Amino acid sequence: MGEIDRIDSERLLGELGYSVLCVRSDEELTIAYAGEPFYEALGFRDGEITALLQRGEDTVLRNEPPIDWKRVRDEIRKNGYAELELRLIKKNGHHIWAAFRTRLFSENGKEYFCGILNDITLTRRSRRIQREQAEELEALTANVPGGVLCCRADENMTLNLVSSGFCRITGYTAGEIAERFGNRFIEIVYPEDRGRLMLHLKNCTCRNDITEITFRIVGKDGNVMWVLDKARCTADCSGNLWVYSVLIDITGMKKAQDELAASEERYRLILEHVADPVLDCNFKTQQLYYSPTFLQKFGDFYPDHGDILEIAEKSGILYDGDRDVLRKKVRELSQAKFHEKDFGNMEFRLRDRNGKYLWCSIHAFLFNDGMGEPERMIAVVSDIDRQKRENIDLRRKAEHDLLTGLYNRVTTTAMVDGAIARSGPGQRHALFVIDIDNFKLVNDSLGHLCGDQLIVETAGQIRRQFREDDVVGRVGGDEFVIFLKNVTSGLVLNKAGILQRMFADLQINEKVSNPISGSIGVSFYPIDGRNYEELFRKADAAMYAAKNSGKNAFRIYVHGIEAIAHGDVR
Ligand code: GH3
Ligand code: MG
Repeated sequence: MGEIDRIDSERLLGELGYSVLCVRSDEELTIAYAGEPFYEALGFRDGEITALLQRGEDTVLRNEPPIDWKRVRDEIRKNGYAELELRLIKKNGHHIWAAFRTRLFSENGKEYFCGILNDITLTRRSRRIQREQAEELEALTANVPGGVLCCRADENMTLNLVSSGFCRITGYTAGEIAERFGNRFIEIVYPEDRGRLMLHLKNCTCRNDITEITFRIVGKDGNVMWVLDKARCTADCSGNLWVYSVLIDITGMKKAQDELAASEERYRLILEHVADPVLDCNFKTQQLYYSPTFLQKFGDFYPDHGDILEIAEKSGILYDGDRDVLRKKVRELSQAKFHEKDFGNMEFRLRDRNGKYLWCSIHAFLFNDGMGEPERMIAVVSDIDRQKRENIDLRRKAEHDLLTGLYNRVTTTAMVDGAIARSGPGQRHALFVIDIDNFKLVNDSLGHLCGDQLIVETAGQIRRQFREDDVVGRVGGDEFVIFLKNVTSGLVLNKAGILQRMFADLQINEKVSNPISGSIGVSFYPIDGRNYEELFRKADAAMYAAKNSGKNAFRIYVHGIEAIAHGDVR
């Protein structure tokens, strides 16, 4: 081939995007020969190319990374030629990619690789973009508990693409789906759900927006899974309809939902059939639910939304006297640790539908919101009215004297000792002992009933002279005790005078003509004693001293007064 022919054929190759290259198999890639199109492709101009062509073998080609000539030689030995991709650095520093299809030649003991180069920069770039897009899609769907599908909108939903996520949830490989089902997605769908899915697909093909459906698919191991399918249908340039779907495995969620629905149903059944009224209150949503038995007992006029504390106080369902108890409980409730689910019993009086307040025991269960905050309370209300009133009555009877209603001796002792225990330093209290003079005479002359009347009248009068928190008790037949807290000597004298005048004014009935009187003894805390027993002994001695000095008298305990009380001295 002549020089002209060679240049022409190189030109022709150049027009077609190819160029001829012959390089030495050294590390530098010394160019033995390169055609014009090669230099043109690297950005050299006509004049420069002529100079380069004239320089011949010493032109050095910069290629990165270095070529593994051994591998190239092996390949040529095997196939007769080798194909490698060269990254050629252009004159301006940018690079292009070229496919080099080469053979091996030897001349004068030197090795030459000669062949044609084909610019594949664009091909490589689009290959890279494709790969990156695939990787991106895979990365996006990798964390989705499901996968991505593309199928034809035909009666089999023939698959065109399945992501690895879809393969993961079904257990099939893409190859197995092709082989076993002929890529017919509908065959992976649970048979009962196929009709519904096809109907949905029909609707989906009419619209361009994203549609949603849940159905079941069957995995390779036979397991049935619930999936949420978000799909969009689009037509390609040939008018074929394609469905792009994102499938999310919702088996766990569906199971939890079903379990929740079942447990809600159980809960509703229990509430409807349980004998005790139940109140279910959500602190966050402020939603209130009253069981049918609650409405039956307490009426159906309470709101089903709002603050439970406000409703309890404003609606009148809660007895006014129990407000503080409720507030205290609510305070405790707000400080309750979330593990304290069972909040225990509270006792309040609640108004029934007829307006009568009933003692109720409320057993509350608390549920937290997962962050430790109380979110919901279920309160079971038991009517304990009869039992509670019986208990209150029994306690009152046990603590009080039946005839007068004053505290009995045991309660008086406990009340006085309790008050002493609670008193602070420097406080002075007084204990009065009062005994009716010649009471036996009333009994003997007018009868026991009349005597009882006198005791009741005296008790009532004494009670009226003192404050609510003073302890007034009947500790013997005609003997009374009064304990006054934080007294002064003046107050004690004043009260003693009042008591004496009270006796003088006592009128039982017309039969009692003799004037009635009483003898009074007083001791002081802490000087005369530090408990009820000591104080009583001293006040009793003072009272007997008053009797011994002629009755209708008042004595304050002093050391040695016992001698007068025993009648040794007057
Ligand atoms: P003194 O002036 O010394 O106190 O003489 P007294 O007659 O009042 O005698 P005293 O206080 O020692 O006796 C009280 C009597 O009260 C003794 C008992 O028969 C009588 N008595 C005790 N309990 C009752 C009661 O519940 N009802 C009546 N009617 N009498 C009672
Ligand atoms: Mg007496």
